[in-house]
Amino acid sequence: MGKFDEIFDDVVVNAKAAASAVSKKATDVYDASKHKITAAEIRSDINKKLRDLGALTYKSKIHGTDYSEKMENIITEITDLKDNLNVINDHISAAKNQRRCPHCGAGIPKNSVFCNICGEKLSDCEKSEDDFENIDEL
Ligand SMILES: [Zn+2]
Repeated sequence: MGKFDEIFDDVVVNAKAAASAVSKKATDVYDASKHKITAAEIRSDINKKLRDLGALTYKSKIHGTDYSEKMENIITEITDLKDNLNVINDHISAAKNQRRCPHCGAGIPKNSVFCNICGEKLSDCEKSEDDFENIDEL
């Protein structure tokens, strides 16, 4: 085992690290599309729980039954869901500020002049491939 082998090992490790960096960036962009679906699902969950809460409020008024414990649980669930939604919306807005390098396909910041993966010079007119619409605040 000479010095050459050590250098060769280093090169292989670096190449692997670069390759995984590219695939991780690409995954980030892909995940953003999934996040958008998840956000929609969470919002529909929240709406469903708000309806349940409204139904319980109505029933307790009409029948005089105490649903306060049940309602507390639903309120806690809604709060948790809203927290999740905020996290996902953060991911989505982070992905919004990304675009794909036309040369290597890596996800890179929208205002980059050069790709930070392959060094390709980027034109200013290039638009983001994933143009996410705004998620309405609840
Ligand atoms: Zn690139």
